[in-house]
Amino acid sequence: MTSNAHRWVYAFADGDGRNKILLGGKGANLCEMTRMGLNVPPGFVITTEACLAYLADSQRRLPEGLLEETRAHMASLEAQTGRRFGGKDDPLLVSVRSGSAMSMPGMMDTILNLGLNETTLAALIRHTGNERFGYDAWRRFIQLFGKVALGVPDVQFDEQFDAVKARVGVKQDVMLGAEDLREIGERFLQVVQRHTGRPFPADPYEQLEIAIKAVFGSWMGKRAVDYRREFRITPEMANGTAVNVVTMVFGNMGNDSATGVGFTRNPATGENQLYGEYLTNAQGEDVVAGIRTPKAIADLATEMPALHAQLVELRNRLERHYREVQDFEFTIERGTLYCLQTRNGKMNAASRVRTSVEMHEEGLLSRNEAIMRVDPADLEQMLFPRLDPAHKGQPLATGLPASPGAASGQAVFDADRAAVLGKQGTRVILVREETKPEDIHGFFASQGILTSRGGKTSHAAVVARGMGKPCVAGAEGIQVDVAMRVAFVGDQVVKEGDVITIDGSNGRVYRGEVPKVEADFSPALVRLLEWADQHARLGVRANADTPQDAQRALRYGARGIGLCRTERMFNAADRLPMVVDMIVAETPEQRRAALDQLLPIQRTDFAGIFKAMAPHAVTIRLLDPPIHEFLPTERQLEEDIARLHDLRGAARGMEVMTEAARSVPGARISAALRDLGDTRLIDATIARKEAVLRKVRALREVNPMLGHRGVRLGITYPEIYTMQIRAVLEAAADCLRAGIEVHPEIMVPQVCTAQELKLVRDYMTAVQQEVELTYGVSVPCKFGTMVEVVRACMRAENLAEVAEFFSFGTNDLTQATFSFSREDAENKFLPMYNERGILQDNPFEVLDVKGVGRLMALAVEWGRRTRAALKVGICGEHGGHPASIRFCDSIGLDYVSCSAPRVPIARLAAAQAAISGAGGADRCAPQLLDHANAGAGRYS
Ligand code: PEP
Ligand code: MG
Repeated sequence: MTSNAHRWVYAFADGDGRNKILLGGKGANLCEMTRMGLNVPPGFVITTEACLAYLADSQRRLPEGLLEETRAHMASLEAQTGRRFGGKDDPLLVSVRSGSAMSMPGMMDTILNLGLNETTLAALIRHTGNERFGYDAWRRFIQLFGKVALGVPDVQFDEQFDAVKARVGVKQDVMLGAEDLREIGERFLQVVQRHTGRPFPADPYEQLEIAIKAVFGSWMGKRAVDYRREFRITPEMANGTAVNVVTMVFGNMGNDSATGVGFTRNPATGENQLYGEYLTNAQGEDVVAGIRTPKAIADLATEMPALHAQLVELRNRLERHYREVQDFEFTIERGTLYCLQTRNGKMNAASRVRTSVEMHEEGLLSRNEAIMRVDPADLEQMLFPRLDPAHKGQPLATGLPASPGAASGQAVFDADRAAVLGKQGTRVILVREETKPEDIHGFFASQGILTSRGGKTSHAAVVARGMGKPCVAGAEGIQVDVAMRVAFVGDQVVKEGDVITIDGSNGRVYRGEVPKVEADFSPALVRLLEWADQHARLGVRANADTPQDAQRALRYGARGIGLCRTERMFNAADRLPMVVDMIVAETPEQRRAALDQLLPIQRTDFAGIFKAMAPHAVTIRLLDPPIHEFLPTERQLEEDIARLHDLRGAARGMEVMTEAARSVPGARISAALRDLGDTRLIDATIARKEAVLRKVRALREVNPMLGHRGVRLGITYPEIYTMQIRAVLEAAADCLRAGIEVHPEIMVPQVCTAQELKLVRDYMTAVQQEVELTYGVSVPCKFGTMVEVVRACMRAENLAEVAEFFSFGTNDLTQATFSFSREDAENKFLPMYNERGILQDNPFEVLDVKGVGRLMALAVEWGRRTRAALKVGICGEHGGHPASIRFCDSIGLDYVSCSAPRVPIARLAAAQAAISGAGGADRCAPQLLDHANAGAGRYS
């Protein structure tokens, strides 16, 4: 770039079409198209470097030499067109357009017809013989220049425009005559004079200078700065705007003129066909402004057949050259076709996938390029139902987009009611303040979940994602009143049974049923993912807890289960009482008796999962959460016990009554009422509740998530882990005897010392010997550990002596590394941290590669020092996040594991990581690198 340091301006014929940073996207493409020999009106680009130099000058002067260079290029335009800028005969007019390296739609507007003043206007009218055209160009110029360069609000022009239309009595601009337009031009000049306190600049070079400065200045305008912040556009991606000065061509010179916008393929469907719209006798802004209804490009074939053929040829050349779908602007001036702009077309996910596959099959793209061309995160659009994009309703409330997809149903405020209605076939949305493990049956019965508290990693979010159900979490504007069966949203009330719609992809909640677009696992997507699997180095597994989840994960293309959270099985309604028995047991014998009941149930669960996933590996995690989570709350129990005591008092009263009735002649007490007097059942229930309450109090912890959980539980209650290990190994033995290939892996959570692991491995060795003896088969089973505690990372070398595999639990590891409680962080200060730029991302979604990632890299390296073949995966939420997956690939993980519906996203991201990691990205077209280069976790 240094050799260009003092060159501020490039003619289209001289600019390097690949240098978007210097010339902006629009300018670079205009240069590129000129070099391709396409009919681009002559013009030049003033560089982004000139913009930065201008902005760096405290007095906002254009850099030295810029105006001279500009004049020289204007002279060249004059020579090429045979017209004079400011000329009295056939005047040269130009458009002035901004354009930075990244497209920022609507950020900096275009000025058309620059160079007009009283003299050139008269000349234009004389030369074209078209008074109306001349005055129309004049009023457009004053308004655009006034607005963009002089900051006059549009309304001030619109008021004048409307006043003239009202006086003339017409509704549409096209019905105004030359005289009317002249009057409008005059009124506009007065508007400018009033607003700026100066006459409208008449000197074309002064106009040009003001316009250049205005475009440069708009780079630091509020709208542009906000846009860059919102879309995280860094200076490396786009720094400053270029200015494009282009000879005007007119689509409004009569019925042999037109203007339009084309797409080389249909951006909505991806279909390989020229697509677009045009208007005859109009200027470009009329198409955009929607003043007249444009016609489909196919109509041009009958209206101007020769030009339609040229347009098809233009389309073919653009696509062959750019090897990407193009969105281009064209103008036909008196039968001559000009191309005014081209850029990469924006498409929805379905059309991007289809065009990638088809462009590879047509030989336009390599496989690698086809894979790199799709942003994995966009696949979400195809994998879940979405709200119809045409829907414009106002949301009732907004929360966090916690699990993608959209759903409608009747609002229901407790899980039991949801289960009852769900069973009857009613579609319901479970609305809660927050959810708890005991709400699980309500999840199964609901179409979606809405909570007013909790973040994207709250219980509701994680469970909903695992089930592939939409969830909006932390919609704090909603107040749920379970007792009254209503929710309040501001001054609105949602009653049980009212239909609501939630969109878990953007966190919005609507009243009523909103139309949806169904998920679309298209043949093109299947093909693209097959290619992805061939390129990926990382394996992709799923987090799945039930045989049904496992089957779904398989359909999405998971090859194995990286995390089966066994506690989810404990929460099913038929098991919870046994789990409670196990917890309240006073002696190991009592506990064993309860566990004996659970054993066959877990065995059946595991066998189901093994069968569904065969022959792939299944990692089963031993019990992790603090066990109080399976018990009711202390408050609930106290209330229950108080009510039972009341009932007992009533029952005593009944006893008295029965006794007294004996001495009252003729009094008869029914048998049912007499039974009520029998307090034995009540006493037994009270005793049970009191036992549970004692346990709840005994288990109370100040900070349960850092307390008695994970392997700590397994060591204090060895019977629990032993039962689970036995269930895994017996299920595996059953499968093996039935000829089903299984690869069980037992994983221990929350480990921080090798000693803990050794103890659990000893349980496993003992049970394994027993099971193998009983079943008469050898049951190979890997033994490994979650790495989710900072100390586990630091002691990876030692842990690897015992563990055959590591799986990073980055949910807990992130909490531990930041010392953030994830729910509190997401609810209280993280949004503010993100807004203020203290953290760029939510570290619970985007792996913090500089902190957590560093620990992971160390743990991988140290672990493999001890055990070279150590298998390493990730099963925290980050395992489904594309940029985080790329990082996992870079530090040599073997697999990622994520919720089933994110598996396709992970498969594509894994392939992209392999391709870019192998240097493949260098071979991709530059525009494809935008995706490849976006990094995970950009913290300082
Ligand atoms: C983790 O900590 O990343 C993990 C997968 O475990 P859980 O989310 O169940 O705590
Ligand atoms: Mg964890």
